[in-house]
This record gives sequence, structure tokens and C-alpha cells, in this order.
Amino acid sequence: MLSDRINSLPASATLAMAAKARELKTQGINIIGLSLGEPDFNTPEFIKEAAIQAVKDNYNSYSPVDGYADLKVAICEKFRRDNGLDYQPSQVVVSTGAKQSIANVCMVLLNPGDEVLLPAPYWVSYSAIATLAESKSTIIPSSIENDFKITPEQLEAAISPKTKLVMFNSPNNPSGTIYTEEEFRALGKVLKKYPEVYILSDEIYEHINYGTPHFSIASISDLYDRTITVNGVAKAFAMTGWRIGYIGAPEWIAKACNKMQGQITSGANCIAQRATIAAVSAPYSKIQYMVDEFNKRRDLILKLLSEIPGFKLNEPQGAFYVFPDVSSYFGKKIHGNNIENANDFALFLLERAHVATVTGEAFGNPKCIRISYAANEDDIKSAVKRIKKLLS
Ligand code: GLU
Repeated sequence: MLSDRINSLPASATLAMAAKARELKTQGINIIGLSLGEPDFNTPEFIKEAAIQAVKDNYNSYSPVDGYADLKVAICEKFRRDNGLDYQPSQVVVSTGAKQSIANVCMVLLNPGDEVLLPAPYWVSYSAIATLAESKSTIIPSSIENDFKITPEQLEAAISPKTKLVMFNSPNNPSGTIYTEEEFRALGKVLKKYPEVYILSDEIYEHINYGTPHFSIASISDLYDRTITVNGVAKAFAMTGWRIGYIGAPEWIAKACNKMQGQITSGANCIAQRATIAAVSAPYSKIQYMVDEFNKRRDLILKLLSEIPGFKLNEPQGAFYVFPDVSSYFGKKIHGNNIENANDFALFLLERAHVATVTGEAFGNPKCIRISYAANEDDIKSAVKRIKKLLS
């Protein structure tokens, strides 16, 4: 008999859809996978070389649980250079992906009954991790009409005496929305009034940005002492499988994450950590070619999707997803299929157009589906063509 803990945990919708697409592919079906947020580039050569050198230099032993000292120094330097944030190495913890960083933070901060505020849309695993930490998620809704942003009034109305943590993610997965400095400062003004609320700022898509300046909430001085800044190398450096994420946090939280990680996984992979020193120390110019390419693909997919009636679109400012509102199809019967919600719609696209996307329900917005454009241009073109044909 499995535990209540695992029984109450939903499977990751992004990974489940990717697995389903993979399975159909092995059956010989030509699936176009636009479900997973994974750059289709190879890891840049200078990072691979650092990893090869680390192997040659015999980096084969356990690393310190919270990461190599020189990597933590390099991360502090990155925080100063890119975010204007002053963290000491004792405030940094390196983990097996930003997902583990987030899980550590939730495990060390949340007690049963605590509430976590999730401005929607939010990344699938936030609510699941909060559930694992026996806390309750409160979703703050947004819509495509306001570019998927919440207002300070909404934030204030959602805070209760039980609220312990609020999770922001800008640039946002799945909407691509970026909160401006002004917008974050307005939200920050509310949070200043509630000193018992902690802030997790997931900035994993920081560099996949098409023009709106990135702003780190921890740079609001009144909030620095209760903000955990999460980042990692997966998205910007095409290193998803290397599994390196990290936090900058108040020292007492970093220490607790170190303790938590010491009992669950120990230090992150030593070769990947050495490679990460090369990644985080590199100037942005070394990865700009990938961001430029994502930008082109964004324009392409927006143009193509805008030709499909019933797809309501916003213009993502970052990350590599579009999150169209497809609710105009709900309640309709298309080619014999009843489409009642976003789950039905995503499944319909998979089964009938052989295009894998992810239902918006998993991200707290049941009107939308998420389409990843971290795929090559031909796949993007063919996928939208198939969807258009199916719906016409
Ligand atoms: N973060 C990516 C996504 O949203 C990777 C999959 C996952 O870990 O959920 O597609």
C-alpha cells in the first residue's frame, strides 16, 4: 500500500505529456513534441570542455553538500553582476536542478496547514511540492486580458494569517510574462506589510528575455531578508539534463536547505558543478545566439497561431512558451470529439494532430494550453499546420 503522500501527489503534467509523446513515437507515430520546456540546442562547447577537464582532473568524489566553494563564489559574482544582489557563499546552496532548490525551500519553511500563494499561471510543480510539504496552495488567478499578471490588490486579498510563502516566476513558465520593476515594487509594497510572509523568486528564465529588463525581487531592500532567489543553468545554457540549480537566500534558510539536502541527495553531480562554474562566469554574449533564435521562433509561432480562429494570444516577453486561451472551443464537438476543457483539447491535439502540448489546468489556468517553441522551425511550422487543419 502506497503512502497517502504519494497517492495525493499529481504526476508532473509536463513530464507525463513528454512521456506519452515518447511512447507514441516508439509506436511509429510521427509526434511533434511541443510539450517540454527544453532548448533544442547543444550545451555550448566552452561548458562541455570544462566538464571534460573536470573528468580528467578526477573530480569523482562527493562534493560539499551545498556545492563547491569556488562554484558558490562564482554564483555570488553572477548575482552581483546580473541582479545587483549581494550574497555571500554561505547564503548559496547548489542543488540537483532548480526543482530540488524549490523543494528544499518548501520543505524547510512550510509546516502542515501553512498556505502558499501561487500567482497563476504557475509552474506545475509548485503546487505539487507545496502539497508534499503538507501545506495548502492558494491560487491567485489572472487572465490573458491583463497579460497574466496579478495586481497588488489581488495579492493583498489573498494573504491570510496562515500565509507563509508566495512564489513568483518571472519570466513566467507557462505564459512568458515578465513583471517589470515597477510592478514588482508595487507588489513588494504589499508584502512589506506582512513580515511573516516569505518570497520565493524563481528566475530560471532570466536570460531568455526579449527586451523587458529583468528585475530580482530580492533587490527590494526591505524584502531581501525574506526572499529566496532561485536560478539554474538548465534553460539559458541548454543544460537541462545536467541538473544544476541554486539559491541565494538568508543564511539561516541556506543552512536548513543544506541540512535537508544532506539527508536526501548530498551534493549535486560533481562534473556538472565544475561545468556550471564556466557557465555562470560567462558573459551573456556567449549565449545570446540561442536567445535570438528563440525570439525568432516566438515571432513565427505567434504569427502562425494568430491565423487559427479561436486562439487568443498574448505576446510572451520571455521564456519559450506561448499560452493561448482556447476556451472558445470548449463545449463544442469537433470531428466527433467532445471538447469540454483544456485537458480534452490538449489530448485532442495529441491524438488527432499528433502534436504534444500541455493542458493549462496543470498551471492553474483551465482556459489555456501551453505550447513550447523550444523546437526547430520546421517542427513549429508543421505542428501549427496540423493544428490548423484539424480545427478548420
Ligand atoms: N521546466 C520544464 C517544463 O516546464 C521541464 C519539465 C519539468 O521539469 O516540468 O517543461
